[in-house]
Amino acid sequence: KERNAHEPEFLQAVEEVAETVIPYIVQHDIYYGKNVLLRMVEPERLVSFRVCWVDDDGEIQVNRGYRIQMNSAIGPYKGGLRFHPTVNASILKFLAFEQVFKNSLTTLPMGGGKGGSDFDPKGKSDNEIMRFCHAFMSELFRHIGPNTDIPAGDIGVGQREIGFLFGMYRKLRNEFTGVLTGKGMTWGGSLIRPEATGYGTVYFAENMLKTKDDNFEGKTVVISGSGNVAQYAAEKSIQLGAKVLTLSDSSGYIFDEEGIDTEKLEFVMHLKNEKRGRISEYLEKYPNAKFTKGKTPWDEKCDIALPCATQNELNGDDAKALLSNGCMCVSEGANMPSTKEAIAEFHKAKILFAPGKASNAGGVATSGLEMTQNSLRYKWTREEVDKKLKEIMGDIHQSCIDYGTDEDGYIDYVKGANIAGFVKVADAMLAQGVV
Ligand code: NDP
Repeated sequence: KERNAHEPEFLQAVEEVAETVIPYIVQHDIYYGKNVLLRMVEPERLVSFRVCWVDDDGEIQVNRGYRIQMNSAIGPYKGGLRFHPTVNASILKFLAFEQVFKNSLTTLPMGGGKGGSDFDPKGKSDNEIMRFCHAFMSELFRHIGPNTDIPAGDIGVGQREIGFLFGMYRKLRNEFTGVLTGKGMTWGGSLIRPEATGYGTVYFAENMLKTKDDNFEGKTVVISGSGNVAQYAAEKSIQLGAKVLTLSDSSGYIFDEEGIDTEKLEFVMHLKNEKRGRISEYLEKYPNAKFTKGKTPWDEKCDIALPCATQNELNGDDAKALLSNGCMCVSEGANMPSTKEAIAEFHKAKILFAPGKASNAGGVATSGLEMTQNSLRYKWTREEVDKKLKEIMGDIHQSCIDYGTDEDGYIDYVKGANIAGFVKVADAMLAQGVV
């Protein structure tokens, strides 16, 4: 705690894991007294570097780049890159730590890492984005590789950015390898990868609902965010017969009582992915909806909540509001969107609650499938990848049941995901000795 006192998000993520994993360690001699968790909280390597680039006005800009290589006991480091002005070592360490457990849960051989920059892509031209990505990769390329560390996208890093990053890596290394995932379909990308995190979050919720003999049909769903994860969580919810009521961005949220259907979602995808506009512009096309400025959507009545924007976007009061409005299932699409207080409320009410490291693992799992296809130099069909994604989400759900079912039968998905993720990495670390 003292060593990381200035890193609140990282401490929050570690404490959540420690609360469930330490009692397990104490009960199991093979882990007890080996300082495994203490070893896991220290990154194997943390690289920080200067990124200089020239903006459209000819001004030299300076940003800070990072790559955190957290744990490679079960496979090469794997995890996204985030470009957002709030990025710092604490946020990336929390994300890298979560990633270790998440990747372990996917059943695929991937270690955990995360990286990014405090660069703000908002309002930048395509040329500025390209120059920044090229400058960022001109340093990062030294530290990554298809058998060492395979970054992917995250907030602010979508297919456009992955393209620019991949182009510079390929030039510098003079080789075409699967060093990044989330690539375009004509240059090594996997079908279903763009959809995977959002779809996976809904598949996980489907599995949870099944334990109550229930499903998405006719349910009302409140979603935060309107980026990659939120868009495909909405798409899959609609496909399964639910009514999606909200989407949001950092300026506020839209509420559409008639439901955001496929056509309206297509409008949002164009607005966000091509026009790079604000969610409030939804009202220009659909004036019956309402826009609430500067707020998250958790006060709206719903059956299912899917937080898909960012960390700590759903606090204890939000959780109380959701519960009093009858929400019975929360599946996290974002990383650590619910605060500790919010999770406590959900657990107290004994509703279905899935932490991101389990429910949003479909993205990295499909990245793992992209790596496999790149190594095989082969491409699976959409149906094949979707089937594998569904199976993996089902397997993760089962692991949570195996390790997280309380004596009264309540499934504590937080405990289940933490312990199941821990066991595989800890076993590998112990087998490999003190390295
Ligand atoms: P995008 O950049 O595509 O979208 C992010 C969305 O969240 C945008 O709507 C954005 O609004 C909103 N947002 C970002 N920061 C804030 C903030 N501080 N307050 C309110 N809203 C905010 O990112 P993704 O959809 O890829 O990622 C969303 C979440 O999912 C993140 O937590 C990420 O770590 C997690 N995740 C993503 C995976 C992936 O495959 N992409 C995999 C696993 C987890 P605005 O445009 O106004 O900034």
